[in-house]
This record gives sequence, C-alpha cells and structure tokens, in this order.
Amino acid sequence: MLYALAFFFSWAAAAWGAEPLPVITTSTDLRSLVEVVGGERVQVESLAPPLQDPHALEVKPGQLAKLKATALLVRIGLDHEPWLGPALRTVKDPRFARESPHYLDASKGIVLLQSETPRVGADKGAHLHGFGNTHYWLDPENSRHITAAILEALARLAPADRNYFEANRKRFLGQLDERFKGWLRAMAPLKDTRVVVFHESWPYFTQRFGLIIVAAVEPTPGVPPSPSYLASLIQKMRDSGIRLLITEPYSNASVVKQLATQSGARIVTLIPSVGGDSAASDYLSLFDLNIKRLSQAAAPGQ
Ligand SMILES: [Zn+2]
Repeated sequence: MLYALAFFFSWAAAAWGAEPLPVITTSTDLRSLVEVVGGERVQVESLAPPLQDPHALEVKPGQLAKLKATALLVRIGLDHEPWLGPALRTVKDPRFARESPHYLDASKGIVLLQSETPRVGADKGAHLHGFGNTHYWLDPENSRHITAAILEALARLAPADRNYFEANRKRFLGQLDERFKGWLRAMAPLKDTRVVVFHESWPYFTQRFGLIIVAAVEPTPGVPPSPSYLASLIQKMRDSGIRLLITEPYSNASVVKQLATQSGARIVTLIPSVGGDSAASDYLSLFDLNIKRLSQAAAPGQ
C-alpha cells in the first residue's frame, strides 16, 4: 500500500509539476467547493451541467478523455450518479479505485437523511436515493465536511500547497459563518411552513432552515407520478392548506402547472446547483438566491 501511494505521489508530481491540478467533479456544486479550496492551484470541470436532472446524464466521449487525464475525481457518491459507474468502467483507470488518492467520494462521513428508505432491486432501476438522500450539499453546514475532505485530497496530491489550501478553506468558512447568520434571519418568518417538493432534493435544506416537507410529487425519487397519485396529492394539499410548491427548473412543467392551479399553492422554483441561474454563480450565492426566492414567495400579499 505504501509503495502504491508513493508511486501515485511521484506520478502526480511528475505529471503536473507547477501546472494547476486538473480536477473533475460530478456536479457544479462540488466544482465550486474544489475551486474554493484549490484556488489558482486547480483547474476544475464538472461532468454534469447545472440545469439537468443530476441523476440522469450521458457522459460524452470528450468528457471520458478528460477523466483519463484528471488528477482527481470528486463525486457526490451513493446512487446519486448512476451514470458514473459505466463511464469509469469505460475509462478502466485503476487510479479511480475507492482508496486511491485520485478518487474522492464526498459523501463519506456525511450524516445522511432518509437512510431508512428501503433499498430496491434492479427491477426498479428508476428508484434513486436507495442508500439515503444524496442531495446533502444543500445543507450549507455540510460544506464544512465536504471542503475538509477536498482539502485532504488536494494536499495529498500537492503536499507543498497544503498551507495555501488551508488558508483558502479558512477564508471560505469565515464567509459561510457570516452569510449563515443572514440566511437564518431571512428564513425565520418561514419557520414551520409546510411545503410540497417535486423531487426530494430539499430535505437537508428544509431541515437546516426550519421548513417542513409534507409530500413529494414523485411518489418515489425518480419515478413520475400517476394521475391517481396526483389527484390524491392535490386533495392533500388543499386539505392541509399547503401554500408553497418547490420545483426545480427541469421539473415537468405541465404537472407543476396542474398541481399549482388545482391546489392553490404558489410555485417556487429553486436552483439545486451552482450555475443554474446567473445569480447563483458560486456555492454561497446559491443559498442567497434560493433563500431570496423563498422569502419573496412566502411574503404576504404575493
Ligand atoms: Zn435525487
């Protein structure tokens, strides 16, 4: 093992020298957090674009070539990226083995929500979140853990830059603490507001900021609702006076419209990933924007 690690280190140093380390992430949120820690010492690209269902992606040949050339792959993990396994099998690079310094699964050590969800068999391939909810980056507190893991991964590949990475992360955490106070203040009037979500992207966010998810439009994650499920959901929303329906930019527009019209709930389209809106250009501004949208939608007289 030690020999293998020494080989990886010398290989990394020889391959990149003073050049920025090429890093591939599976999401734009992870890209933003790698940039926070790595600064000018990294060159980061995300496989998934921000405005697409993150669970469904076709990795392009050009992206496979970049995977082969990358120093580090950072992923959300669990079953969030069912498309990554086939891509890695095509690339067939031993550097992406689980314990390799070139591979970082950011879910390690995260306290998962909905981990009681039963795992399903291969016959229900569309069911996601089988190991727990994978949208953990949407609790800003989890960025402490994610950036710590990124720091360790980068410092293993570029040990001479450890102090630089540490200083970058420390500055980010200072900004996070400052912004967090404002987010809590803005969200305080919405405490205990009951909401319906389209996909189960928001349990970490709502738990952190005090909203209550009463139902999801997808009966199980990744599965479209049947007409009878929709009818019962609309009735439930009316009976419980649900005011807000949280959707994503790529949610099925006709289903969203039908639900909002028939239940009387207001649609709030939140941005699940960095870059999904020009105002959400990095990890911290993603929360600025979503909290602003929620506050505006919940304001009286809207
Ligand atoms: Zn999901």
